[in-house]
Amino acid sequence: MAKKVLVIGEVKDGVLRNVSFEAIAAGKTVANGGEVVGVLLGENVSGLTDELIQYGADRVIVVDHADLSSYTTDAYQQALLQVFDVENPEGVILGHTSIGKDVSPRLAMKLNAGLISDAVSIELDGEDAVFTRPIYSGKAFEKKKVKEGVVFATIRPNNIEALEPDSARKVDITNLTVDIKDLRTTIKDVVRKATGGVDLSEANVVVAGGRGVKSKEGFGPLQELADLLGGAVGASRGACDADYCDYGLQIGQTGKVVTPDLYFAIGISGAIQHLAGMSNSKVIVAINKDPEAPIFEIADYGIVGDLFEIVPILTEELKNV
Ligand code: FAD
Repeated sequence: MAKKVLVIGEVKDGVLRNVSFEAIAAGKTVANGGEVVGVLLGENVSGLTDELIQYGADRVIVVDHADLSSYTTDAYQQALLQVFDVENPEGVILGHTSIGKDVSPRLAMKLNAGLISDAVSIELDGEDAVFTRPIYSGKAFEKKKVKEGVVFATIRPNNIEALEPDSARKVDITNLTVDIKDLRTTIKDVVRKATGGVDLSEANVVVAGGRGVKSKEGFGPLQELADLLGGAVGASRGACDADYCDYGLQIGQTGKVVTPDLYFAIGISGAIQHLAGMSNSKVIVAINKDPEAPIFEIADYGIVGDLFEIVPILTEELKNV
């Protein structure tokens, strides 16, 4: 049976995050020939509808409200529940991002639906969408489908390929007015940390450093390599605990989950908790002075040696490519 699926677009710094387009592709599979409706929440976001349409949304709903200018659980939950009331969807897809992780269980509970979180792929089994998601910190995968009720899922960024954009697509855009009240939280100001520009969760190249980097300054050459490749710097918890970098850069079980095309693990031993956040990267390059370091077991390419010698050589070589 064809389904109506709502896909929630995620806006950051005035632009749609790539995971929104990946969610549309996921929504198409779940819809099984039905309608994929893009939902845009925020303030002054109507200029972003074109992109959702180009990437495959069959219709777009814009919810423009001052209380949605920055994410708060209360405001987003209230707005989305009102969208659901109007649309009565059979499927809902969000990105498995900080926002998706926060709001999706609350919405699923209100809708009396189950939630399949952190899916890395989706396929159809007859008419049912089957979601694959990692378990045991990425050591195994399970397949899940929803037997009855709303198919509610979050998808891990960088895993499901977005459709090719088609600038000729034209579809209906509706503005929906929502009533947001009794907010328990309001955002007064947003103070951003300088993180070098590229969003770690969506970066195609991640250059991650561990305790082996030995100091804040030790991250300098890693940042240079990341800048050269248009990537983002990440870190192990070892490096964060040692105060070499901010916890916002932590990758792993209790940090961010990343799936870049290229992951550098530099001075990182490869603890299971770290692997949980990066083992699905497409190509893994490990640089470590200990040939027995567990990270080499999952690395596609390994360089045994002192990172302080190897990283600058690598950067210089790549400058000439
Ligand atoms: P280490 O294990 O100390 O490794 C440093 C590596 O650097 C070594 O392999 C060493 O050979 C190498 N090295 C040293 N000097 C050089 C040099 N000059 N050149 C090249 N190589 C060098 N960890 C995470 O990363 N993310 C998480 O989300 C996370 N969550 C956790 C949750 C729980 C509940 C627990 C208990 C732990 C968690 N950890 C997490 C911690 C994890 O168990 C490890 O302690 C941590 O990942 C180790 O970080 P590291 O590899 O940087 O440090």
